[in-house]
Amino acid sequence: MQPMIKVENLTKRYAGVTALNGVSFEVKRGEIVGFLGPNGAGKSTTMRILTGFIPASAGSVAVAGFDVFADSLEVRRHIGYMPENNPLYLDMRVAEYLKFRAKIKGVARSERRDRLNEVLKQTGLVEVQHRVIGQLSKGFRQRVGLADALLAEPDLLILDEPTIGLDPVQIRQVRELIKDLGKRHTILLSSHILPEVEKTCDRVIIIHHGRILASDTPENLVKSLHAGGLINVEVRGPGAEVQEAMRKVDGVETSDCRLGADEFLTVTIQPKPGADPREAIFKLAVANGWTLRELTRKRTSLEDIFVQVMREEDEAEEDRREGRRSELR
Ligand code: ATP
Repeated sequence: MQPMIKVENLTKRYAGVTALNGVSFEVKRGEIVGFLGPNGAGKSTTMRILTGFIPASAGSVAVAGFDVFADSLEVRRHIGYMPENNPLYLDMRVAEYLKFRAKIKGVARSERRDRLNEVLKQTGLVEVQHRVIGQLSKGFRQRVGLADALLAEPDLLILDEPTIGLDPVQIRQVRELIKDLGKRHTILLSSHILPEVEKTCDRVIIIHHGRILASDTPENLVKSLHAGGLINVEVRGPGAEVQEAMRKVDGVETSDCRLGADEFLTVTIQPKPGADPREAIFKLAVANGWTLRELTRKRTSLEDIFVQVMREEDEAEEDRREGRRSELR
């Protein structure tokens, strides 16, 4: 079946900045895909190109089989877009605003009332429909943005940072809402918050410096990188000696040692893939007479993967730069 989104070799240059550098990915119909990356990674730029708001410098983008550049009107008909900093008319009332938006989006006059009632119900806005938008909490305003995106019954929802600025309760509510919407729509959402994407999405695309670094289900990303996560050690002993000895333990990839508030050292250890050096750490402490207060292994989270994938990319980038410098010498 034709993918909902097909992006090939997408490149975007702003004056002096390459925001996207040969990005390719697909989103299948019915998927909820999370676009994950730090600030400036290129998430909003990709979304703006997908929705036809800005042109690309090179590459091709198709939505529901239509070329974004050649058939932009057709593409827009398939997309409900909630931009970052969702622009709302703050002095309008919720229902009034959504009616106005339905008209702009070309929803037939005879269908507007039904669509309005439907999206108010879907997004939990029935009770506040007569309230002025500017007097609503940020969480409710975000729902108005979602209701707006849903008005014209799009196949595809593109949500740029849908939970930014919300409190934890609101985040949970909007997340549930998105999951529910995912039963009927294909969704591409962006976030720089990991638990967000991990909990909501079927698949995660990690983007950094305008390039895709990884694309898989959250579970597979975790599996492919490590059998297990970081090891946390709390030990009382001479700092420099402990640090030196921990590094040499078999199966330890890196170790980071800090002095806590109460004379205990906190050591964070990244084991080598597949290794479990906990027993060796225990024996090391006993052999040296150091008091061991904590020795635990954290489950690898998507956050660990994210940090590691980006660290590797930054190191590779540094190597490339170093290579270019030595070529010049
Ligand atoms: P954020 O979460 O901060 O919005 P992002 O991943 O969405 O991050 P983009 O907004 O797509 O990132 O920005 C990618 C890069 O392009 C950044 O370096 C940014 O400074 C640059 N950029 C974005 N818009 C413009 C513009 N209109 N003119 C020049 N540079 C831009």
